[in-house]
Amino acid sequence: MTAYGIIYKKRNGQALDRGEIEFMVSGYAGGRIPDYQMSAFLMACFINGLNDGETLELTAQMRDSGKVLDLSDIPGVKVDKHSTGGVGDGTSLVIAPLVASCGAVVPMMSGRALGHTGGTLDKLESIPGFKTDMTESRFKEQLCRIGVAMIGQTEDIAPADKKMYELRDVTATVDSIPLICASIMSKKLAEGSDALVLDVKTGSGAFMKKEKDARTLAKKMKSIGEKCGKKVNVYITGMHQPLGNAVGNSLEIKQAVDVLKGRGPEDFRLICRQISAKMLVLAKKANSMNEARNLVDRSIGSGSALAKFREMVSMQGGDPEVADNPAGVLPKAGYREDIVSEKGGYLVYTETEKLGLSANILGAGRARKEDGIDHSAGYVLHKKTGDRVSKSEPVATAYFNDKGAYESARKMFISSYVVSTKKPAKKPLMQSEL
Ligand code: URA
Repeated sequence: MTAYGIIYKKRNGQALDRGEIEFMVSGYAGGRIPDYQMSAFLMACFINGLNDGETLELTAQMRDSGKVLDLSDIPGVKVDKHSTGGVGDGTSLVIAPLVASCGAVVPMMSGRALGHTGGTLDKLESIPGFKTDMTESRFKEQLCRIGVAMIGQTEDIAPADKKMYELRDVTATVDSIPLICASIMSKKLAEGSDALVLDVKTGSGAFMKKEKDARTLAKKMKSIGEKCGKKVNVYITGMHQPLGNAVGNSLEIKQAVDVLKGRGPEDFRLICRQISAKMLVLAKKANSMNEARNLVDRSIGSGSALAKFREMVSMQGGDPEVADNPAGVLPKAGYREDIVSEKGGYLVYTETEKLGLSANILGAGRARKEDGIDHSAGYVLHKKTGDRVSKSEPVATAYFNDKGAYESARKMFISSYVVSTKKPAKKPLMQSEL
């Protein structure tokens, strides 16, 4: 068996067997298959797709590329969530500590920026000192002590996803249903949670632009999770415009702190409340969604959700002061510029993906695997879809350090919206549940 032969077969649209998928995944995780062959393999999978059997096998091989954690010695149902990714979707930053503050155990394994979307790990690392890599024993110890830990794939846990994810980010092989399914489910199966809430995004800022594709992805992930003995609940939610008002790593941390204090944008708060409540029901901390929503509201109102966030930041080496004074702790951009509307009317984000790409140009994402991130770069939005805007009124403020990049980022940003004379129809945020 050779990598060449397997790439050739997939390139020609043939289905691969277990041995061939294992050969590619373990070979790549083990350093025997180089980046260029894995890139070609991923592109062949992207173009020709994988059938259900191949997708299940790819997920299992990626999960088994490292350790599968056994958290059964920690009492209670361990529950996690994952979003397929969007622009401004920093909800995990709120949901993990919030759900833990209501008594559930949340072992959360997240990802980095991918394509035009941001990544939870990059956002967390904008907190000075915050560490997202941990040994298995440290992870378990933190879960026992405070009920929440937020980590990334490591050399030990889901290493194949770590490497393949980084490669997909820079080879235009992200928005593939089987590759997203295997990437998300392999890490969620490896981290040892019992139950999972998935947030599958659809719309112009999502990988799945069409609801039909989002539904297919949702069904596949749910079926794989259930086949592996997990309870899985899926929401399909709208990503027709950025979620919340912040896009970019430290800007999203600041917004998350606001939300943990009971403030912040309504759309962002709605998603956090609904997903957190569902996690609490799955974790048997509430008998109904109403009871769970009350728990969530009380935890935010009493300050316990924020206190849990502070505790988690501190245990993971970060500066806990971020919970009280984010502006004083988080990195600040050297420059800020308002992007103003050229005419009056109603603002409509029509190509939200471009807004995410524009934040990447400012430095919030990576162009190459080895690139660093500018944690301070990004946008604060002053207008959302349906808002009235006057001529010369700011639509957003850009934060950046790379002055040379600003003009092309600004052009990309303004191509993400139109200003219309007609008020656009409202698109629902919570679209459906599986
Ligand atoms: N999130 C992941 O973890 N992987 C993907 O492929 C997409 C979103």
